[in-house]
Amino acid sequence: MEFFVLLFFFGLSAGTVGKIKGSSFVIWFLIGFSLPAVGTLAAVLHRRERTVLRRRCEHCDNVVPLTDQVCMRCGGDLDFPDEALAPRGAAGF
Ligand SMILES: [Zn+2]
Repeated sequence: MEFFVLLFFFGLSAGTVGKIKGSSFVIWFLIGFSLPAVGTLAAVLHRRERTVLRRRCEHCDNVVPLTDQVCMRCGGDLDFPDEALAPRGAAGF
C-alpha cells in the first residue's frame, strides 16, 4: 500500500512540474505515476514550451519552433533564420 502512496506523490510532483512549465498536469501525473523518479526528472528537464523561440517558414508562412529543420506544413527545408520570433507567451498569444 505504501508503494502506491509513493507512486501517487511521484505522479503529483511530476504533474506539478509539468503544469508549471505549461504542459498538461494529467499527462505528467501519469508519466510520474508509471515511471517514478524518472517521470519527475523528465518533467524537470522538459523544455518550457512557452519560451521556445519560433520562426516563420519562408515557403508557406507557417510558424514553427526555431529548432525545426523541416516545415511541418509544406515540408520545405528551413535554413537557420536571420531573426527569431518571440516566444508565444511574450508576444501575447
Ligand atoms: Zn512551410
